[in-house]
Amino acid sequence: MSKRAYNFNAGPAALPLEVLQQAQAELVDYKGIGMSIMEISHRSKEYDAVHAEAQELFKELLNIPDGYKVLFLQGGASTQFAMVPMNLLSGGKVAHYVHTGSWANKAIKEAKLFGEVAIAASSKDSEFTHVPDLSNLSLGSDAAYLHITSNETIGGIQYKQYPATGSVPLVADMSSDILCRPIDVSQFGLIYAGAQKNLGPSGVTVVILREDLAKEAPESLPTMMRYATHVEGDSLYNTPPVFSVYMVGLVLKWIKSNGGLAAMEQSNEAKTKLIYDAIDASGGFYRGVAAQSSRSTMNITFRMADEEMEKRFLQEAAAQGFVGLKGHRSVGGLRASTYNAVPFEACRALAEFMVDFQKRSG
Ligand SMILES: *Cc1c(COP(=O)(O)O)cnc(C)c1O
Repeated sequence: MSKRAYNFNAGPAALPLEVLQQAQAELVDYKGIGMSIMEISHRSKEYDAVHAEAQELFKELLNIPDGYKVLFLQGGASTQFAMVPMNLLSGGKVAHYVHTGSWANKAIKEAKLFGEVAIAASSKDSEFTHVPDLSNLSLGSDAAYLHITSNETIGGIQYKQYPATGSVPLVADMSSDILCRPIDVSQFGLIYAGAQKNLGPSGVTVVILREDLAKEAPESLPTMMRYATHVEGDSLYNTPPVFSVYMVGLVLKWIKSNGGLAAMEQSNEAKTKLIYDAIDASGGFYRGVAAQSSRSTMNITFRMADEEMEKRFLQEAAAQGFVGLKGHRSVGGLRASTYNAVPFEACRALAEFMVDFQKRSG
């Protein structure tokens, strides 16, 4: 087999090798039907089994309580930025948002198109290098929901615990850290995630929704924009992205067979410790962007003395098979995305490369 890269891409991102190999084995002839899963009806019994199994695996892995629905939608997390307020922000209520960086900002911008938005907390003062303390939140009685971004993919900061919001639904954009660790789904009214970071290929957006919230949408909403449509139709109102759902199903099976979310958490912590240790032990040669207490286990952001040095780092890393280490174009610097599917070995190799590069450059 050809050599696999050390893939630290931010999204679309690494997938488990076993998943790719299984998809390859089943591609031309899915379970003896003489066709691929992409070539048959989304109402066929074969696809139906794929769809139902992926939903069941989500429920099992995340321990999702009764009263929630797992939806497979399209349009990416960016469409959820609009669908959330379209469905949940009505009747003169106020949508509360925590501003933690680029992705939160996009969600806020979109919500403002549909109603009143309040910034419940912000880490703008620290240039989004930490997650604000939300232990003393006060949301008015007219709060429609509180929206958080559980992991800021560009800044590299991640919540270590989620705020208590009482009867106000907590809505979370978990695009870049869903399934990286166990969570208590009952704390949330709605969770959404574009698949292409930690779940599978792009093309499907997973929404985990407390069913009563689907009933709040105004009558005037277009059919496809209403959560109720997809709850009632079991995400089969129209043609779902069948291949993406199939791939997500394979990734979920891979997570399960590798010990579930507790094992993912352990592995993610061990993997990222290698790289954060290389940063912390470098005496300032590498500088972590995120405050220690908010460091992400999914996106490690760091900087070097100047852009010249960062450029050399990237060039030498590329020559040794490391991919995707350039920071987001909006902030620059360096970023290693270490999603579930990024192997421990790749992280160890990167940590060793970092130490070695420092020795050669220091
Ligand atoms: C990538 C990302 C998005 C955007 O996802 P799309 O599926 O491209 O719309 C939104 N939020 C977060 C946290 C992300 O990482």
